Amino acid sequence: MTQSFSELSLAPTLARAVAEMGYENMTPIQAQAIPVVLQGHDVMGAAQTGTGKTAAFSLPLLQRLLKHENASTSPARHPVRALVLLPTRELADQVAEQIKLYAKYTQMRSTVVFGGMDMKPQTLELKKGVEILVATPGRLLDHIEAKNCVLNQVEYVVLDEADRMLDIGFLPDLQRILSYLPKQRTTLLFSATFSPEIKRLASSYLQDPVTIEVARSNATASTVEQCFYRVEDEDKRRVMQQILRERGVKQAFVFVNSKLGCARLARSLERDGLNTTALHGDKSQDERLKALDAFKTGAVDLLVCTDVAARGLDIKDVPAVFNFDIPFNAEDYVHRIGRTGRAGASGLAVSFVTGRDARNLGDIEKLIGKKAEFVPVEPEPERRPGGRYNDGQRVWQQPQRDEGSARPMARAPRAPRPASDPFFDKPYEPTAAPEAKPSWEVADKPAARSVSPNIKPKKKVAALFKATERTPETES
Ligand code: AMP
Repeated sequence: MTQSFSELSLAPTLARAVAEMGYENMTPIQAQAIPVVLQGHDVMGAAQTGTGKTAAFSLPLLQRLLKHENASTSPARHPVRALVLLPTRELADQVAEQIKLYAKYTQMRSTVVFGGMDMKPQTLELKKGVEILVATPGRLLDHIEAKNCVLNQVEYVVLDEADRMLDIGFLPDLQRILSYLPKQRTTLLFSATFSPEIKRLASSYLQDPVTIEVARSNATASTVEQCFYRVEDEDKRRVMQQILRERGVKQAFVFVNSKLGCARLARSLERDGLNTTALHGDKSQDERLKALDAFKTGAVDLLVCTDVAARGLDIKDVPAVFNFDIPFNAEDYVHRIGRTGRAGASGLAVSFVTGRDARNLGDIEKLIGKKAEFVPVEPEPERRPGGRYNDGQRVWQQPQRDEGSARPMARAPRAPRPASDPFFDKPYEPTAAPEAKPSWEVADKPAARSVSPNIKPKKKVAALFKATERTPETES
């Protein structure tokens, strides 16, 4: 039975924020967790990403903290009352943003601290006083050691994506942080799975928790259409662009298995004229946030990413997810396709399967409890800027223009690549303005190479060499 937020008797300031976000009915985790947290119980929640668990813990937590609400400018009147710990910077940023929206009409202050960023601005925020602090464990410990925050008045602790925090090796940091907190507090733990390690963590730090499980952790959302295509490696890019056009997809996440593959694919897609950005662990924090932002604002259409960089990211309404590479770990398949079809919206998950993927595909089928349904596909000849196309032979054909250019053009020999590619050191520069149409809808006319922010212009030095090599023939 669906339950409406109006049944909760939330404070008017919170109810107004919820209404403004367009939520009417609670998701199952919200319907189960909110009343339990409002009563002050500890919670051990198993919830898939995209189930609405952020609101499930932040709304009741804010409601209970409203008794401390005050307009004083004194930092002493705004001690940290709630601590939300998350494994990655992106997740911390995302959850902090949501909390800010829910608390918009209250006087509660919140902030976020995570590594990879200058500590000074974070310190200034902390010193002003905040009731809700969202943090990654390592950076929080840095601030505790620098005495930038005091946690002796914390009443609520949320351990979000706890399984992931343990995977990353945050257990010692978590133990230290928890040792600084008052014993009398409410602790909420959320995890995709209840592994023995998670159960151990819960038994050490939670008191008589109410267990809430809303969906099998390995279930895939029924709103996601899962399509599998048998393709060769070299056809994947073309087939992806065909599918994007045929299905009228506006934006998509493209998952690959390695950081290097991620950067390379993003560059190839850029060369094909598609607005693309890459998100992987080697990017600086600033670049990662910019990449996410560019995707959210629609400035880029394709976000090519690795699992580590993308896990748990909530970007609403991602219409499609491509498994450009089949993941090595079947659980990653579930996490990846969890990016689409979130909170009831329908989504498309496309997976490219090559001859090497039989075992990994078998694991996925076992995990999701169904057989992969293959869609037949005939890769189109490759489209290239300038109207060239590749018919599958090793020779690029040039459309006939005049007698001189009618003969097949052999691919020019490539200059040897430098050992380190300066592209990887270059900060991300977002595309100027969001396009009205996704780039593949205008792919018959791929964007001119010079528009890509990721492709460096030819170096003047190279041009100088060319000039010295010119023969009288070429001059004429
Ligand atoms: P989460 O699992 O917290 O990352 O939330 C997933 C997405 O669902 C977020 O974009 C939320 O804004 C959205 N959401 C959360 N609660 C609701 C709700 N009751 N109705 C509709 N969307 C929601």
